[in-house]
Amino acid sequence: MTVAARKIRLVMELRRAGINDTHVLSAIERIPREAFVPEAFQDQAYENRALPIGFGQTLSQPGVVAAMTQALKTDRRLKVLEIGTGSGYQGAILSRLCRRLYTIERYRDLGRAAEARFRELRLHNITTRIGDGYKGWPEQAPFSRIIVTAAAREVPASLVDQLGHGGILIVPVGQIGRDQALLRLVRDDRGQIHEECLSDVRFVPMIAGLPSAAEAGRDARRASG
Ligand code: SAH
Repeated sequence: MTVAARKIRLVMELRRAGINDTHVLSAIERIPREAFVPEAFQDQAYENRALPIGFGQTLSQPGVVAAMTQALKTDRRLKVLEIGTGSGYQGAILSRLCRRLYTIERYRDLGRAAEARFRELRLHNITTRIGDGYKGWPEQAPFSRIIVTAAAREVPASLVDQLGHGGILIVPVGQIGRDQALLRLVRDDRGQIHEECLSDVRFVPMIAGLPSAAEAGRDARRASG
């Protein structure tokens, strides 16, 4: 099957799963997922499944990326913050649907590789940072939209603080190795927060602080070995 045919099959699968926002679907069509997938998994780039990207981390499954993006209700006027750049795939999709995307990753090698992909694909409205996403990006706050792509034990308070009025925050919350609740928090025009659970998901953990040299080295070896 050709890449084009696989892509069409995936988009049809996403439609059947309830993704009906045409902007989200066309971003999925336009961003080449194969550019974010390691060599060994190229044939699975358009399967609806999560794939390893090294350092024990994963590129989320397209269905989850599409559902989270749709739930974020972003548009071309908005400033968006993503926590957990990973491969950069979710960020690339978002960049087509917002004015500017700020994205934070704690693993330097992952963040730098994602940045190189953004440059290659000419996605010029993305700003990357290596750092701890629990701190958010205070210099750029408030954000209209915030999306967290790793599971937190509880909703990170600093991210709620950095959410503007009328803003939406999407974050998976719960324990690792179990289903987590994908939460959507909305800050209304008076500043009040409203919370709802969208679905059950499984993400890798959101971890505070930067990796130690030992952790980064061990995870890099595990990734290649
Ligand atoms: N959005 C990514 C999914 C990556 S998986 C993609 O489309 O590929 C989650 C990522 O969150 C991992 O790369 C992990 O290293 C990162 N992460 C975990 N805790 C973090 C933190 N506190 N700050 C920034 N990134 C974090």
